[in-house]
Amino acid sequence: RPGAQEWLPRGRAVHDVEALDRAAHDCHGCELWADATQVVFSRGPHDARLALVGEQPGDHEDREGEPFVGPAGRLLDDALDAAGLAADDVYLTNAVKHFRFEQRGGRRLHKSPDVAHVRACLPWLTAEVAAVGPRVVVAMGATAGRAVLGRPVRVTAERGRVLDLGDAEPASPFSPGAPGGGGRSEPPDGARPPRPTDAPRVVLTTHPSALLRVRDRAEREAAFAALVDDLRLAADAAD
Ligand code: URA
Ligand code: SF4
Repeated sequence: RPGAQEWLPRGRAVHDVEALDRAAHDCHGCELWADATQVVFSRGPHDARLALVGEQPGDHEDREGEPFVGPAGRLLDDALDAAGLAADDVYLTNAVKHFRFEQRGGRRLHKSPDVAHVRACLPWLTAEVAAVGPRVVVAMGATAGRAVLGRPVRVTAERGRVLDLGDAEPASPFSPGAPGGGGRSEPPDGARPPRPTDAPRVVLTTHPSALLRVRDRAEREAAFAALVDDLRLAADAAD
């Protein structure tokens, strides 16, 4: 069956973010690798208390091979800063590791990943989150929310509080109720990523890219303030 599972490293390497990153460069778990420049894995400390999950790399990230280095990343840096966090202190990753786009003349236009791409790529996210063991995972936008919670989410309805995975959808890869405690990430040799004693809690918020599209200035400032509030909430919960 399609999906990243068979590209995950075996044995202990599955607990090592650098090994995961290297292995992901060969991933053909869905078709997105073919048109993208390279895989964009993650950045940030491998023992961070706070992990932030975006949707997928954008045009800049695809070229540079680093997540959140384009306009959305700059906005996120500002929001982290306003929330009293240093971007270097958080673990940054995406639900989908290859850039999906539509070619329009000389331009590559971002195209949201399908549910099938999110599902195919999930073994990477599950393994890296298990390896890092953050206290809180911030899912930015509906795609990240779906990946983390294992169900469709409505960010506007569910943001602003800390969600507990204790009794979350078993479909969430981070739910203790998931088969094998994160079943879909179970590597082929049966070794499982170590689960932190406490499953991470989750905060849903808007994706920084969404803010870039808000034209009205007052509206954009309000959206930015709401993002900062959510990041602060997540930081407090991770303390
Ligand atoms: N948007 C994302 O979701 N991730 C990135 O890395 C950059 C932009
Ligand atoms: Fe593999 Fe994810 Fe890239 Fe698809 S998007 S090829 S599953 S790394």
